[in-house]
Amino acid sequence: MGVTHHGRTHRLDLADPTLREWECTVLAADEQGIVLDRSAFYPGGGGQPPDHGVLLWQGVQTRIVGTRKGDDLYLIPAEGDPVPPPGTPVTGAVADERRTRLMRTHSGLHVLCGVVFRDFGALVTGGNMEPGEARMDFNLPEVPPDFKSRIEELVNAEVAADRAVAVRVLPRAEALALPDIIRTQSNLIPPDEQEVRIVDIVGLDVQADGGTHVASTAQIGKVQVVKVESKGRANRRVRVRIVD
Ligand SMILES: [Zn+2]
Repeated sequence: MGVTHHGRTHRLDLADPTLREWECTVLAADEQGIVLDRSAFYPGGGGQPPDHGVLLWQGVQTRIVGTRKGDDLYLIPAEGDPVPPPGTPVTGAVADERRTRLMRTHSGLHVLCGVVFRDFGALVTGGNMEPGEARMDFNLPEVPPDFKSRIEELVNAEVAADRAVAVRVLPRAEALALPDIIRTQSNLIPPDEQEVRIVDIVGLDVQADGGTHVASTAQIGKVQVVKVESKGRANRRVRVRIVD
């Protein structure tokens, strides 16, 4: 695990979220899935769903429809597709539109999270995203007047400000010493991780995060706040959509 590998797979997506195609070799392939030596498939986690894509080899393609995480990172082939045997050199390709939309959505959620913490003091209690659509729950007992329109305005102001989104890896102790590093109340950094990956929307929001993000907030695009719902006494669910 950690910040560069999952099992035997070198995670190319962590260092370069813009990578969509690469050469690699199949290490294992069975009913559990396909393991590559190098992969840019985001395996899912932190609310961001896994990538889709293809493996191209010897004139055929294997569609990848999901992942399974265990000791290794298993890519799940589409039912009925041929599976490359171990040792096969393959070209991996991540479906660009889905991934790019997920990156914009994920970064958009961090901006939302940063704005709601900065201006309303509320912590995140949960969330979920699909390409272009997401929800985030906040612990906010009193809903301020015009909350929905205010957060939409504040989020889009941060998008327009085109803040840099910087990703870096810090030793655990250094990461934990950052103020406000854990913006969620429940997500704690796993105790066995010696290094922590940090996603910093410079000047707005710093989080421990393993996801893929755009390079600056202008790349997110316009964020619509679709709905604010009450889910329990103090829980507010904010639904957003990313539009072009
Ligand atoms: Zn995140």
